[in-house]
Amino acid sequence: MAIKIFIDQGHNPSGNFNSGAVANGVQESEVNYQVGIDLQNLLNSDPRFEARVSRPTPTTVLGTTNTTSLAERVRLANEWPADYFISIHCNSNPNPAVNGTEVYIYQYMTQANWLAEQILNAVVQTVGTKNNGIRVNQSLYVLRRTNMPSLLIELAYVTNVSDAQKLRDDQALFAQGIYQGILRYFGFA
Ligand SMILES: [Zn+2]
Repeated sequence: MAIKIFIDQGHNPSGNFNSGAVANGVQESEVNYQVGIDLQNLLNSDPRFEARVSRPTPTTVLGTTNTTSLAERVRLANEWPADYFISIHCNSNPNPAVNGTEVYIYQYMTQANWLAEQILNAVVQTVGTKNNGIRVNQSLYVLRRTNMPSLLIELAYVTNVSDAQKLRDDQALFAQGIYQGILRYFGFA
């Protein structure tokens, strides 16, 4: 039986509510969308996995408020039900020097922690971003309300020039890194 992975592409398309960060000509929601689609394609061409995304088309809008948008993503994953939940985001910071990749989880010493570790290491290795480590955040709705091991990856910072360039040009590599991390977590690579 295939391992079911739910990929949540953070935010809604630009022009809608909750459309995410924008800087250096990079729109977070578009990066999240494409990396999610690329990751879905990698997983679905591997018979060991079955993947679904929260935003199957570039114009898909989830919910009507920030709260219902998050609730819809969690509902889709819980009702499937997915075995793992991966939410994809890009970070931003008022200080343009801040850069790198970090992964949020609900709790340390969990399956989500071990998966996060593999994904973070593989992304940093594949894309060349800075490793900002794994952080616990119990206030993130998608981590709190999902019924399966879940993590939220901040790929890189749209507000940092070098990171923004990677987010614009290396979307396939980010997806490849996440995929490699998943393979390593399951001992497939
Ligand atoms: Zn975000």
